[in-house]
Amino acid sequence: MTISESTLKALRSKTPQLWLNPAFGEAGDLSVSADGIADAYARLTRCAGLLSDLFAELAGLDGPVDSPLLEVTHLQRAQGSDPARDGQWFVKGDHALPVAGSIKARGGFHEVLALAEKLALEQGILQPDEDRRALARPAARALFSRYTVTVGSTGNLGLSIGVMAAALGFRAVVHMSTDAKAWKKTRLRDRGVEVVEHAGDYAAAVEGGRAQALADPYGYFVDDEHSERLFYGYAAAAQMLARQLSAAGRQVDARHPLFVYLPCGVGGAPGGITFGLKVLYGPHVHCFFAEPAASPCMLVQLASGMEKAVSVYDVGLDNQTQADGLAVGLASPLVSPVMLQQLSGIYTATDEDLHCWLHRMARTESIALEPSAAAGIGGPRWLAHSEAGRAYLEAQGLVSDMPNASHIIWTTGGSLVPEREHAKFQALGAELERCRLREAGGMVR
Ligand SMILES: *Cc1c(COP(=O)(O)O)cnc(C)c1O
Repeated sequence: MTISESTLKALRSKTPQLWLNPAFGEAGDLSVSADGIADAYARLTRCAGLLSDLFAELAGLDGPVDSPLLEVTHLQRAQGSDPARDGQWFVKGDHALPVAGSIKARGGFHEVLALAEKLALEQGILQPDEDRRALARPAARALFSRYTVTVGSTGNLGLSIGVMAAALGFRAVVHMSTDAKAWKKTRLRDRGVEVVEHAGDYAAAVEGGRAQALADPYGYFVDDEHSERLFYGYAAAAQMLARQLSAAGRQVDARHPLFVYLPCGVGGAPGGITFGLKVLYGPHVHCFFAEPAASPCMLVQLASGMEKAVSVYDVGLDNQTQADGLAVGLASPLVSPVMLQQLSGIYTATDEDLHCWLHRMARTESIALEPSAAAGIGGPRWLAHSEAGRAYLEAQGLVSDMPNASHIIWTTGGSLVPEREHAKFQALGAELERCRLREAGGMVR
């Protein structure tokens, strides 16, 4: 293992840190390509009518499922940042993605829609140029009902895949760990999805799902750790963001840098988005991941060199966090080699940080998030106020361009969270804020 002593020390003590990727910007062959993104974007676009028929929330949808880009100046000021000095903060609001309620919507919908198209085309139920609404006709439903779509999930991927698969008439099975949030299991069961519970962590749930699906000739397993369909579905968000930025009058070029802060679990969603943004903006976009201090799986994988798989357990961490969407011990082997070249860095956050941030977001912008989804909020401060952050800006020659910068805090889930859960998060966040104010004088994160 080649993780440096200081990084390892901060990892083991769960001290939040900003780790800069020493391999950032190195060139090399990638296993993924821009064609895959265009394909996913086109699929999500041509299925808009189908989705608007299947889900009341999507009535009238005429393009890919997307979320709003919001200016968050109140949050920015509350975090001690001045737009005239530091650039403008935005939220890319995937907490509000319809039906799935999280960033998992684009990837998950894309994978299930690709399966449905493939089966229907093979059986002659759908013609290549036909309106995808045909996938909701009885002949298609009868076909899909013979197949079982299975996925292992900490929660949100199950909500995306399970609900879409069930709506098209597939049998849908979601494998989850026993400690997954109870309301997520209930919501799935209410939508006709079977939930299988596993003692052990996320990896155990994935393995359970994989074994069951492989034993079934009509089984289809959505593989969160290896799926290109998920990856490209997530990556399609980059084009959507680019359109919103230009509509908001935000330039992105050598003098107008774009910074994007993405919560990372297995790496598929933030990795797909990073890859998509790099295709569009090259060196002018700077992507940072945020991971829980107890589950920094992408950090340990990238920092240890890429010779073998390294998990958070290997460095003595326990993968125990309230950020269930990010509670992953081992990074995706599909995504990590891509991120080794493209990712600027990764910072870690404690559960206390996440609760404080989600409280501040609710107070200043009236946006309610789940803990995982708040992880991006700390990004701009790490960049502007830490030694590593300043070193990055200097090395990239960006210090004098910061007033022109756009900062995108990617909020990744929360709109389906029941009110009583939000109330608990808020109360905890408010209490932690009071403690921090009492202790003020230490580093404000
Ligand atoms: C899944 C998830 C992420 C991260 O996506 P990965 O593909 O697992 O890296 C971030 N936020 C939330 C709320 C999620 O559910």
